[in-house]
Amino acid sequence: MATQVVIGAQWGDEGKGKIVDVLTEQAQWVVRYQGGNNAGHTVKVGDEKFVLHLVPSGILHAGKKSVIGHGVVVDPIGLVSELKGLQERDIDCTGRFFLSDRAHVVFSYHKAIDAAREEAASKAGSSIGTTRRGIGPTYGDKVTRKGLRLGELVRADAAERVKARFVERNEIIKALGGEALDVDAHTAEVMAAAEVLRPFVADTVVLLHEARQAGDKILFEGAQGTMLDIDYGSYPFVTSSSPTSGGAATGSGVPPNRIENVVGVCKAYTTRVGEGPFPTEDFNEDGQRMGEIGHEFGATTGRSRRCGWFDAVVARYAVMVNGVDQWAITKLDVLDTFETIKLAVAYEVDGERIENMPADTELFARCTPIYEEVPGWQSDTTGITSFEDLPAAAVSFLDRVTELTGAKVGIVSVGPRRAQTFNRP
Ligand code: GDP
Repeated sequence: MATQVVIGAQWGDEGKGKIVDVLTEQAQWVVRYQGGNNAGHTVKVGDEKFVLHLVPSGILHAGKKSVIGHGVVVDPIGLVSELKGLQERDIDCTGRFFLSDRAHVVFSYHKAIDAAREEAASKAGSSIGTTRRGIGPTYGDKVTRKGLRLGELVRADAAERVKARFVERNEIIKALGGEALDVDAHTAEVMAAAEVLRPFVADTVVLLHEARQAGDKILFEGAQGTMLDIDYGSYPFVTSSSPTSGGAATGSGVPPNRIENVVGVCKAYTTRVGEGPFPTEDFNEDGQRMGEIGHEFGATTGRSRRCGWFDAVVARYAVMVNGVDQWAITKLDVLDTFETIKLAVAYEVDGERIENMPADTELFARCTPIYEEVPGWQSDTTGITSFEDLPAAAVSFLDRVTELTGAKVGIVSVGPRRAQTFNRP
């Protein structure tokens, strides 16, 4: 198998970082294709914990090459501090980390605009809960053809153009009720970061094409999840990019017919950060317990995640739009102590049963889950290292997931460590 995409099947935070980390063993290249440093992967290697926001987690494997494709928006200052953090832990990026020259730059004015808009929206009660990292405004600029790409930022004469942008955007920030930014200081800061990034900037479309020609295996690492996709998610409570498998092609330059396998990462339950509909959200003890046992706090924002039961409607939809070939079910261990486990098999809205995800977000918000209950296994799975050793009730639960979603379970995860992951034979 040459190319594989790992996508989140829910609202992000499914544990993609860890699954990518495990699958990286078989790949030579790991590629990010969308999002920005609003994402956060937590990867545990031995007892060391790494939180990566932009750099693909493949960097933690000696000899593997990592690429940030052009579908990603790059905050140069954030990226430099991430690279510095890796360097401090003796992870060398030289010659094995590449940044697309076509990737758009996130400037601090994007962040200021993001924050000012969210502030105003929150006063009006219409906040969408962005991470205020400037991701949405940067994609906005890209689409309206007002953005600046990394290839241009690292040119020797870029400072003047960058400065002019800050002057212009300050007017917008002020109009939104925010405070104008210090043009010289912000320009100097971003140009210093550009200097550090210059050696990593490359035409990654050609690079990945040549890698494929040479027979290398490429692994795509999705950030966020299907339900946050700009097209497929619960709009407008979504991210500004395409985390679904199609985004891997448009965001990297590797054509869709060269992507051969899609791994859908899905928790054994569901979580969501920020605003927006979430039919299986559990406001009672069960949801609280999932949050506590699963340590459901965002890697990037520290925000606590909303928790609830597995939603087969969402998972089925993820299979549909991503072409999921196999599931990686994570955090199965979080359900270890539950007596009964619920799965939403369909929704009910206005007295009618619906099987598929509605496009209308207002309708989606009114959907209530129709649950099916299965017995819990009530035993500790965190020490299990092979599928055969899983309790029968856990296997039944996973079988039910397959029946309800139409995709087989290929990988099971019972803890944050690499060793706590195994395949279903
Ligand atoms: P990502 O953005 O999809 O990679 O997800 P996050 O990194 O935000 O969240 C996953 C969190 O769950 C991390 O802290 C992981 O270390 C942890 N994790 C991943 N898989 C498992 C698992 O199977 N069980 C438990 N208990 N934790 C896990």
